[in-house]
Amino acid sequence: MKISGFLTKSLFSFLCLLLSSMTGMLYGQDILTADERLWLDQQSVIRFAPAPNFPPVEFFNEDNEYQGITADFIKIIDQQLNLGQKLEIVQLEDWGEVMSEGRSRGIDMWGAAEKTVSRSQYMQFTEPYIRLPAVIIVRQEYTGDGIEALVGKKVVGIENYASYEHLQENYPQLNALGVPDIEAGLRMVSYGAADAIVANNAAAIYYIEKNGLTNLKVIGESGFEWNLRFAVRDDWAPLLSIMQKSLDSITALQKRDIYRYWINLDSSDGWKFTKDYMLIAMAGALVLILLVLFGWGWRKRSAVKMQLLTQRIEEQKKREEELKNLATTDELTGTYNRRAILEIAHTDYQKCLDEGQLFSVLLIDIDHFKQVNDQYGHEVGDRVIRAVVNVCREVLKAKNIGHIGRIGGEEFVILLPMIDDMDAHSVAEQLRERVENEPIQCVDNALHCVTISVGLASLERSEKFDELLNRADIAMYQAKKAGRNRVAISRELVAG
Ligand code: GH3
Ligand code: MG
Ligand code: MG
Repeated sequence: MKISGFLTKSLFSFLCLLLSSMTGMLYGQDILTADERLWLDQQSVIRFAPAPNFPPVEFFNEDNEYQGITADFIKIIDQQLNLGQKLEIVQLEDWGEVMSEGRSRGIDMWGAAEKTVSRSQYMQFTEPYIRLPAVIIVRQEYTGDGIEALVGKKVVGIENYASYEHLQENYPQLNALGVPDIEAGLRMVSYGAADAIVANNAAAIYYIEKNGLTNLKVIGESGFEWNLRFAVRDDWAPLLSIMQKSLDSITALQKRDIYRYWINLDSSDGWKFTKDYMLIAMAGALVLILLVLFGWGWRKRSAVKMQLLTQRIEEQKKREEELKNLATTDELTGTYNRRAILEIAHTDYQKCLDEGQLFSVLLIDIDHFKQVNDQYGHEVGDRVIRAVVNVCREVLKAKNIGHIGRIGGEEFVILLPMIDDMDAHSVAEQLRERVENEPIQCVDNALHCVTISVGLASLERSEKFDELLNRADIAMYQAKKAGRNRVAISRELVAG
């Protein structure tokens, strides 16, 4: 028989002790009657033998310290009753020895015991302080539901445990097999040597975590429930009422804290903390990886989206530009169409008016163009129109002045902002001359030259652009009248 030290120096135990002793100090009341107190005082020792290996209900750790749910109850009881040195925790080899020592009065009290008929012959029992359902545990891949689905399967129970007896009695159709302890049984199921195990949920969780048996799962309750009680020798009647009073004075909050602490595995055991922290760290790392991947994916998707968006915006801009060009460009010559050149004209003209600047306008018409069409066909006529425009553009570009637009079939307008009539006349003459001398490719390699008549009008007085253009038009017709291939200045005709 080995006697271990009682105190577990965990913070939790300390808090429990502090709380219970504070309760006693605050109220200064003894929960015991005078007789009970007297009886207790007369006892020199009360030998308490826990189940040596029944975690998390009760067990001895590597340092032979008594721990577990029952151990925490005992600590509170010890404080409440002020047992002091009277309480002796006795560490026995196994549960069988605990019972036999109880029977022979080698010990006076147990914890975590089921009340049975045979045990009741020499022990008396408190009300249950822990209720633990026996659950059925299988491997993850098992798909059956409930204990009935395990017919013919190898189902493990813990020898000498009431749960195993319950299993054998109530489910004879199962292939029940006794194992010495829950740890061995859980491993058998995990490794495939058995199909299921019936064990209490708290112990199962404890050992599954401890052994890292992650391929197991609980599929339901077996119908058996442990109602664990304290048992005291039946010739010590006062001890039963003393224990019951003490148990009754433990608050629901204290009980909840104890259960949570042990069943949720918030143990002071370093291994479990390490395991828990490891799991938390792994979960954290996983979340971090997911976030990084998500972030990376998100950034990648964003980059792709941005690229598509930019592409779409550029395409849109291009389309708008094309539409704008279509709206402002003359299809045949690529220069401004009538609407665009008149719009520019009005804007530029107004600006020149506002700024007191000069402004000249040229109106150009190809001479005898009908004859070109008639002689070479409409396509050649188009080519001639384009050729005349190109010549005009080149001249304007070289001088870096003016805009040209097509306002009719073979009629064009050239805007010359900030150009007076003298310079405009010079430009007009150059244009006339260049066109006259521009050989245009016609059918069968035949070259053709055309001439133009130009009407010139310059801003002389405050007038509207339309009036200025009208004057240029009149001048152009004067040039026609005067024989074509010439430039006419409004009201004035200059021979070419
Ligand atoms: P004028 O010297 O008096 O101007 O004689 P003209 O033959 O040029 O007479 P007018 O200006 O009246 O005739 C213009 C002709 O231009 C009439 C039309 O058939 C032709 N024309 C108008 N637009 C186009 C065009 O886009 N392509 C071609 N090939 N011909 C066109
Ligand atoms: Mg014409
Ligand atoms: Mg003409």
